[in-house]
Amino acid sequence: MSGSLVTAARRLDALGFMPSKSGNLSVRTPRGFRITPAGLPYAELTEDALVECDADGVPFSASRRPSSEWRLHATLYAARPEAEAVVHTHSPSATALSCARQPIPPFHYMVLLAGGTDIPCARHATFGTEDLAVEAAVALVGRRACLLANHGVVAIGASLSAAETLAMEVENLASQYLALLAAGLQPVMLDEAELDEARMQFDSYGR
Ligand SMILES: [Zn+2]
Repeated sequence: MSGSLVTAARRLDALGFMPSKSGNLSVRTPRGFRITPAGLPYAELTEDALVECDADGVPFSASRRPSSEWRLHATLYAARPEAEAVVHTHSPSATALSCARQPIPPFHYMVLLAGGTDIPCARHATFGTEDLAVEAAVALVGRRACLLANHGVVAIGASLSAAETLAMEVENLASQYLALLAAGLQPVMLDEAELDEARMQFDSYGR
């Protein structure tokens, strides 16, 4: 499981989702969670460099520092018992949109993958703080992904692969939405009935 954490971190970094060593990933463990370390380039990330913390975010080994966003991860595991993984990125389009402090609206039915009819943007709080963790947990009520104002993206999932896939989809949607706006086009939003139908279609495909 943690082997795939290294692979996933490297994959997201290769996609340009983790510029300047930003972003962080974790998976839940029986004792708490295992998270990417602070300040290590993803290309140098190994299994041994991952940091296991208790549920409060205290590392079991004093020799390693967890990612500076460990509070975000600890808070989300506490708030969302169904979450088995947390993926935080600074992917370019979603991060750009987060700087407008706007949600991704229902211009495309794929927003439903995050659990609701939009992908909200959490209220701004300084990176690495308990406030940021709380604002993210609030924005994620009824959702599995949100933007973090002037910062990036966080996605949770029932597996690492689900959280990673969702973080990728958030970037994809943000990129499409920004392209529409950049072209000067007015996106036509899906209405409630259309979103309901799309939701039923997802359900019938077992997603
Ligand atoms: Zn960040």
